[in-house]
Amino acid sequence: MRMEERGRFAPSPTGELHLGNARTALFAWLWARSERGGFTLRIEDLDRPRVRPGLAEKQLEELRWLGLDWDEGPDAGGSRGPYLQSERALIYQAALARLGDQVYDCFCSRAEIAASASAPNGPEGDGPRYPGLCAKLNQAQRSERRRTRPPALRLRVPPGEIQFHDEIQGDQSIDPQAQVGDFVLRRADGIHSYQLAVAVDDAAMGVTQVLRGADLLSSTARQIVLHRMLGNRLPRWAHAPLLLGASGERLAKRDRAASLSALRARGADPRRLVAELARSLALGMGRAAPCTPRDLLPGFRLGDLPREPLPSTALAAD
Ligand code: GLU
Repeated sequence: MRMEERGRFAPSPTGELHLGNARTALFAWLWARSERGGFTLRIEDLDRPRVRPGLAEKQLEELRWLGLDWDEGPDAGGSRGPYLQSERALIYQAALARLGDQVYDCFCSRAEIAASASAPNGPEGDGPRYPGLCAKLNQAQRSERRRTRPPALRLRVPPGEIQFHDEIQGDQSIDPQAQVGDFVLRRADGIHSYQLAVAVDDAAMGVTQVLRGADLLSSTARQIVLHRMLGNRLPRWAHAPLLLGASGERLAKRDRAASLSALRARGADPRRLVAELARSLALGMGRAAPCTPRDLLPGFRLGDLPREPLPSTALAAD
């Protein structure tokens, strides 16, 4: 049986959606719908302390305002929910149990990892590579340490390059053991990690195509390791170039001016915004007139997407 194509967008309700997120969401939607696929909206609200109450609902509303739709999601139902990661803890725990001995307790503090001599920095935001300090603790040592502090859980990452094809960035080869080492699956405070949750959810939710920002390209190798260990079918990958701020920096959630809510409050026309976002991706086919995401479907080809980041000043969305 041919598997149904399914794309997804997975915002974190820790900051306002900005133009860059809107562009990624539009892309992911166009890719899925152009292949007559389903589309899932998942809320990545695992990092409880950073989640802003009410923001997830607002994000859904803004995505609808842009003209996007989804057939599975927190407000749309579907048989593969819940679609809020905060309600999926038991599912992540079951995955951890399936990983068995490939997971180990880690008692290291950030300071201990940073102080370890063999710890070059991993990719941006990932902190230093974990040098495996706790990988070889025996049962007695673990029990002893557990008395004083709760452990984080890490995955034993096999050495070697992970190869995959990215539909926008081309062929990739990334060695997650060399880059980040044994990465965290559950923090010491009990919060499951982004890497674990995403791999488990993409598989459980029947996602066959993952389109997201290029800042997550290196995470893909870690997720492939997890998918393989869990016996999951791999989705296709596409990492869209980021939208940059006025001086070439990454557009951040704190850039209020570029937030969808600020644009909306200023009375921006979502159809004009969609046309601008499409034009920025060379998808507009000369179209300057306001349009809906659906209007873009006939001319959409993922292969037409540029790889390079784009300055947001190239958009006249406002
Ligand atoms: N929740 C992530 C974010 O908002 C996206 C994760 C993903 O698409 O895999 O940046």
